[in-house]
Amino acid sequence: MKDIIIIGAGTAGLTAAIYGQRAGLSCTVFEKYAPGGQIVNSPSIENYPGMFGVSGYDYSMALFEQAQKLGAEVQFAEVQNVDFSGKVKKVITSAGDFEAKAIIIANGAARRKIGCKGEDSFEGRGVSYCATCDGAFFRGKTVAVVGGGESAFEETEYLSEICDKVYLIHRRDVFNAAKTAVDSVLKKKNVTVLTNSVIEEIKGENAVSSIVLKNRANGSTAEIPLFAVFIAIGLVPENKLFSGVLKLDDYGYIDSGEDCLTDCKGVFAAGDTRKKQLRQLVTAASDGAAAATAAANYIRKNF
Ligand code: NAP
Repeated sequence: MKDIIIIGAGTAGLTAAIYGQRAGLSCTVFEKYAPGGQIVNSPSIENYPGMFGVSGYDYSMALFEQAQKLGAEVQFAEVQNVDFSGKVKKVITSAGDFEAKAIIIANGAARRKIGCKGEDSFEGRGVSYCATCDGAFFRGKTVAVVGGGESAFEETEYLSEICDKVYLIHRRDVFNAAKTAVDSVLKKKNVTVLTNSVIEEIKGENAVSSIVLKNRANGSTAEIPLFAVFIAIGLVPENKLFSGVLKLDDYGYIDSGEDCLTDCKGVFAAGDTRKKQLRQLVTAASDGAAAATAAANYIRKNF
């Protein structure tokens, strides 16, 4: 039996593993994709203290290595079910069943979808949720980015360097990205910002060839020819597994405070998966440290 099982190898999960191992506890991290979580797609990190201009990928790999050097085990397997009813917690994964004295849930959150016609059918054929992964396929072409937050501005900045033209489409006329990011994008000659606009349909034959855009201010619609739509409209929690097991908030995030405690003893929540005001690298790292420390205290008192 492990001391701590950590679900998710993003910033929160790997930080929890670092703190857990350094507290003398054995930690196993389960990750269904790749280490790093959402930040792995960021071309450049500029808002993590002491780190400027490091790519999300390099940061993720450094974090992954650090956790492993400290002795954490990372298993690439999907957590399919959990049993938190006993003192010993059980996790059922695609690699088998495992037990631990404490659990830290750090499974992050998933990309939100627009829900418009054509979004699902053209995914991978011009609809993407990651500019750094797929942008190069559209070098020299016209593309659109949807969203008004940090991610949308990052994606637009990145695509403006490799694409001929980028439309940034936002449903309101106020952005919720950092001013530096907004100012930089607004200066780009090949970026056209379309506010108060929503995509009604993504069209094409075998691949995306246009979008139908509706102006929310005046109700007019227009068809814009382009080759790709990069959707960056935020996150949704993926906590179905914990529904009925842990208390979730109205949006599906785990109902946990800064102490990372959940309503189940021995189970902790860290990072984007839990109810919180600010979802950033620095807050995910902070949660990882808090959750591992709380788990260590719990184990010392109860085992
Ligand atoms: P976000 O900050 O939640 O912004 C989502 C944007 O998408 C908002 O502008 C929102 O519009 C829009 N939107 C939401 N649902 C929509 C829909 N159905 N149709 C059209 N537009 C929709 O999401 P994010 O930019 O992905 O960022 C998520 C979190 O990660 C944030 O906390 C962000 O700060 C963080 N992040 C950090 C970094 C970094 O540290 N370098 C990089 C990327 C992201 P409204 O404004 O109208 O609601």
